[in-house]
Amino acid sequence: MASWKPSCEQNAAIFSLLLCLGCARLTVINRKAGSNITFDLAENRVYVPFPDLVIPAGAKAQLAITYTGALSTDKQGFFRWEYKKTDGTTAYNAATFFEPAAARSAYPCWDEPGIKATMSLTLIVNRNQTAVSNMDVASEIEVVSLPLQNTRPKKVVRFQTTPLMSTYLTAWAVGNLYYLESRDYRLPVRIYVALSMNLETAKFAIKAATDALRFFERTFDVSLELPKSDLIGVANYGGGMENWGMIVFDDGTLSYDQTHINAYDQVKDVTVINHELAHQWFGDLVTTRWWNDIWLNEGLYVCHLSPSH
Ligand SMILES: [Zn+2]
Repeated sequence: MASWKPSCEQNAAIFSLLLCLGCARLTVINRKAGSNITFDLAENRVYVPFPDLVIPAGAKAQLAITYTGALSTDKQGFFRWEYKKTDGTTAYNAATFFEPAAARSAYPCWDEPGIKATMSLTLIVNRNQTAVSNMDVASEIEVVSLPLQNTRPKKVVRFQTTPLMSTYLTAWAVGNLYYLESRDYRLPVRIYVALSMNLETAKFAIKAATDALRFFERTFDVSLELPKSDLIGVANYGGGMENWGMIVFDDGTLSYDQTHINAYDQVKDVTVINHELAHQWFGDLVTTRWWNDIWLNEGLYVCHLSPSH
């Protein structure tokens, strides 16, 4: 569901890719109207016309759209990833990767970096799964699964509303995840990994993360605007993604065997962690209007700012 200030056009153009959209309903000052949706597949856009509804200038309108989509397998959009359980069997967790323009494949949205909104996310997941997102969990309620659907017991996980942010930085992860937490920073810092990874090996990375967050907050003199910082390890992710408050890494970056110290590996992993955490300010809090200025996010960290360990 989205709220926005409409222009004089009674026509909402939204980005969408690989989603099956159902019906749309627009509410303006307690008046509701339904609409048929039309698609422009080449432009990844959907058009939601409301010809019979007059929207007063400056009024707020609320657009609700039902839609379905499928988990991807190529680590784009809302994707699943595979891990081995201790008994050797294969299992799956799921997470998101949206930069630059894949948020639209998980939910219809105004998917451009310069368009910011507050986000209120609710997930329905299996009761034995963990759900993580940009913000902390606001409430968690167990629900009875409907008959004829997947009958595994479910819970509704509602997250706190985010500050203003870009769609490409929204994120969530679901699965059999467990975590290591540090309180060495002003806010909780957690590393979440799949059951196949030994959490003892995440101690080096969580120390690097708390050091980096303290350094950047002191250097910029701007407090992180979120209630926590979670680092999610994904198998074969290859790099990192600076989602605000829920940064995703290749799980190898977060895993370090301290009985076999290797300076090269330490520097490599800490560099990636520092880089993504610097983006919590450069890119996430302050965002370029369009992608051709993204070098500002990447260049300032590389050239001038890096905590030493
Ligand atoms: Zn970067």
